[in-house]
Amino acid sequence: MHADGLNSPPPDGFIPVGTSLVYGKVIDGLTRCAHYHSVLDIIAIRFPCCGRYYPCFECHEECAGHTAQRWPQSRWEEKAILCGACGKEHSIAGYLAAPDHCPACRARFNPRCSLHHHLYFEMTE
Ligand SMILES: [Zn+2]
Ligand SMILES: [Zn+2]
Ligand SMILES: [Zn+2]
Repeated sequence: MHADGLNSPPPDGFIPVGTSLVYGKVIDGLTRCAHYHSVLDIIAIRFPCCGRYYPCFECHEECAGHTAQRWPQSRWEEKAILCGACGKEHSIAGYLAAPDHCPACRARFNPRCSLHHHLYFEMTE
């Protein structure tokens, strides 16, 4: 008997959010996943290696079947950030300029995500 109150992930391993699909161990339509699922973990990122959105780098590592690539700075104008609250996509540059909330709906993002930016983006020192 299921008593965790969470929707089971679909068998094919993705959930539609806005006009995008989010892959990995995503557990709800706000892009929360098995690894990060606080009220603020409502952001997904597209990986340049496969062009797919995942809720976090661990989801990509466990489900993608290949090594994750990071976004070079020359491509930071591309839309690769997905807000789980409103389903809108944002550019990496726009997200990094104000990483604590969605520029469209103002939903707050987890500030601790900043600790992981080097896993997703090629940061300069
Ligand atoms: Zn990938
Ligand atoms: Zn995850
Ligand atoms: Zn939003």
